[in-house]
Amino acid sequence: PVRVRFAPSPTGFLHLGGLRTALYNYIFAKKYQGSFILRLEDTDQTRLVPGAAENIEDMLEWAGIPPDESPRRGGPAGPYQQSQRLELYAQATEALLKTGAAYPCFCSPQRLELLKKEALRNHQTPRYDNRCRNLNQEQVAQKLAKVPKPSIRFRLEKAAPAFQDLVYGWNRHDVASVEGDPVIMKSDGFPTYHLACVVDDHHMGISHVLRGSEWLVSTAKHLLLYRALGWQPPHFAHLPLLLNRDGSKLSKRQGDIFLEHFAADGFLPDSLVDIITNCGSGFAGNQMGRTLPELITQFDLTQITCHSALLDLEKLPEFNRLHLQRLVSSESQRRLLVGKLQALVEEAFGSQLQNRDVLNPVYMERILLLRQGHICRLQDLVSPAYSYLWTRPSVGRAQLDAISEKVDVIAKRVLGLLERSGMTLTQDVLSGELKKLSEGLEGTKHSNVMKLLRVALSGQQQGPPIAEMMVSLGPKEVRERIQKVLS
Ligand code: GLU
Repeated sequence: PVRVRFAPSPTGFLHLGGLRTALYNYIFAKKYQGSFILRLEDTDQTRLVPGAAENIEDMLEWAGIPPDESPRRGGPAGPYQQSQRLELYAQATEALLKTGAAYPCFCSPQRLELLKKEALRNHQTPRYDNRCRNLNQEQVAQKLAKVPKPSIRFRLEKAAPAFQDLVYGWNRHDVASVEGDPVIMKSDGFPTYHLACVVDDHHMGISHVLRGSEWLVSTAKHLLLYRALGWQPPHFAHLPLLLNRDGSKLSKRQGDIFLEHFAADGFLPDSLVDIITNCGSGFAGNQMGRTLPELITQFDLTQITCHSALLDLEKLPEFNRLHLQRLVSSESQRRLLVGKLQALVEEAFGSQLQNRDVLNPVYMERILLLRQGHICRLQDLVSPAYSYLWTRPSVGRAQLDAISEKVDVIAKRVLGLLERSGMTLTQDVLSGELKKLSEGLEGTKHSNVMKLLRVALSGQQQGPPIAEMMVSLGPKEVRERIQKVLS
């Protein structure tokens, strides 16, 4: 069975790069009726960030890609936090020590630091000189008396196995000639990434490892570990980097690549999923507006190229507009949006609401249906440009007189129009009637009549067509706002 995992370290909150890796894993799992597992790689206890573990799982759920097995959900291969699996790493280390594939290292931190400094002085990449590799049993026994808890290193063999990466093709990395033997178990009983990752992928029955291409070279080390442990390795597919549009690194320091930031800003999970898969490869076609089920259908691992994915976040509002529009057109989703809009309006205008009818779901639904396609986020509807929908504008008579000398005439005619029509005009009919109304006013341009009505109704210079504004506000409210102009 297909079993894939997303294995972040809880050293920070979930950001777009992590979401991308998680997404490909999720989509691959769902495509092949497999399982998507969340494993937290928390063995570097010094780098843990409080709340990160919860945030990662919360945000996966928010994004609509909940794991099938995870620290919170549990599952048959748990626990899903490496810090709770120390016994398994100890066992594997024991097995490697027994066969001589691993050995204790007694080098002091000071010695290792010196080695590093010396290499840097000679403009070389620091590497461990494998000094403890060939200690005999007697020497080991002697040193153990002084240092009872040594770290354990893995003996890198010369012949690294070649492997076929499902994205990058054939790979062979002679890691032993460039690196010193890596520590796999620290003296405090915590494993390092390489050992923990291999042990867990094996015990969790992972069939495919889909992860960022920064791990491609580490795979040689992992394969050597699999061989030494006598285990069958999974398939590997490394994903090209996700970069900014200009090719620069997607920086966590920008602060605005964290998912919770997008969620708080009112972006829909669907639009993040869409923009991230849209800039990457692996899908038949790349039209905007795709949803997860469509992405799963269109996914094809063999279509993933080695090119970096360039993310243009400036397009995100446009993606969001499409997805918001899609939700508005579904009756059940629209009802959920109304609930959210009510909360937004309460939050933004709460005490200023002179007329609590604006919280009526029928009114809100009408607004959503009329404004869909024009707004990018639900939040936009509570921005100053739309405040007229929720509160009455304060408009001075002088402001109107500056637009036209015929304020009273125009206002009275609009009131008459509302009266005659029985107040049930559609936007199209209304717009025709307004044109006729202007034609009947000699010497007054239609555009000026519209300008006047716009200011009277909304206090704004710009906005939706007047007829639409009138339909959204409803005849009763329009009448009151126009009447206010007269008095
Ligand atoms: N913990 C690693 C990370 O944070 C996981 C790498 C892997 O998927 O093997 O990226």
